[in-house]
Amino acid sequence: QAKALGKNGLRFFDPSMQAALESRTALESDLRQAIGAGQFVLHYQLQVSALGDPIGAEVLLRWQHPRRGLVSPMDFIPMAEETGLILPIGLWVFETACLQIKKWSAIPARAGLQLAVNVSARQFRQASFVDDIKNILARTGANPVLLKLELTESVVLEEVDTVIEKMHALKEIGVCFSLDDFGTGYSSLSYLQRLPLNQLKIDRSFVHNLPKDKSNATIVRTIINLGESLGLNVIAEGVETPEQRDFLLRSGCQAYQGYYFCKPIAINEFEELLDA
Ligand code: C2E
Ligand code: MG
Ligand code: MG
Ligand code: MG
Repeated sequence: QAKALGKNGLRFFDPSMQAALESRTALESDLRQAIGAGQFVLHYQLQVSALGDPIGAEVLLRWQHPRRGLVSPMDFIPMAEETGLILPIGLWVFETACLQIKKWSAIPARAGLQLAVNVSARQFRQASFVDDIKNILARTGANPVLLKLELTESVVLEEVDTVIEKMHALKEIGVCFSLDDFGTGYSSLSYLQRLPLNQLKIDRSFVHNLPKDKSNATIVRTIINLGESLGLNVIAEGVETPEQRDFLLRSGCQAYQGYYFCKPIAINEFEELLDA
């Protein structure tokens, strides 16, 4: 950690901190040129209905780093948020997803598939956010109904009125909204009722040890009932076993995502999966 200010006003760092700082700075400058260098790819994770039919996918960002290999979003999204690089990166994700929606629109078996895109807090907070998304939709010709925005509770808990206004503006043209990692945040029921959502996404921490964990089983049933009361669709993430799927199915969950069905995969593999 930083030592106290020296006599001449300089700060002293220990060598391990120096190394961490250098590696961080290197990663940041790598990140800065990653879009231009075409190092980002989207992976697609299947979402299925209660009948097991494909209904769409969540798009998950991957960074193909020339030396580090495939970098997980957990390892660069926080830095991208801090530096503001999440703004151009986020737009690239939307653009790529919308181009894919447009491509599928010409293929009858794929034309109804919906793509879910994660939105970062900083991106959603931008005054231009609504216009940016509308412009991308117009430019790519993607059907807005097939675009689903995943917001987390921390995103929607910011400035309530502005959040609701932005959501309405996009909902008006058909864009859908899902509340990601639901149950881990602090949104109140009255607040939830005001948000123009389409879907609640049960966080995978509640799915993890179903049906053994009685408290998680109760939470999951409560979320599903809540969705029903609010007229919202409910999807579960992180479904890994047939036991989890069966419990969710019995509890009335409408949509499913997780390794039990498929891991996030590259677009060509995803299309092969749809053909199979
Ligand atoms: P998330 O939106 O909650 O995405 C779900 C995460 O759970 C993904 O991790 C996915 O690979 C993983 N997952 C899916 N099924 C299973 C399962 O059955 N078991 C387990 N253990 N995990 C499963 P991933 O791809 O590493 O993404 C992590 C987070 O990074 C995402 O969490 C999301 O918050 C963020 N992220 C990913 N792509 C983007 C993006 O394009 N923009 C922004 N702003 N954030 C993104
Ligand atoms: Mg998500
Ligand atoms: Mg999630
Ligand atoms: Mg999650």
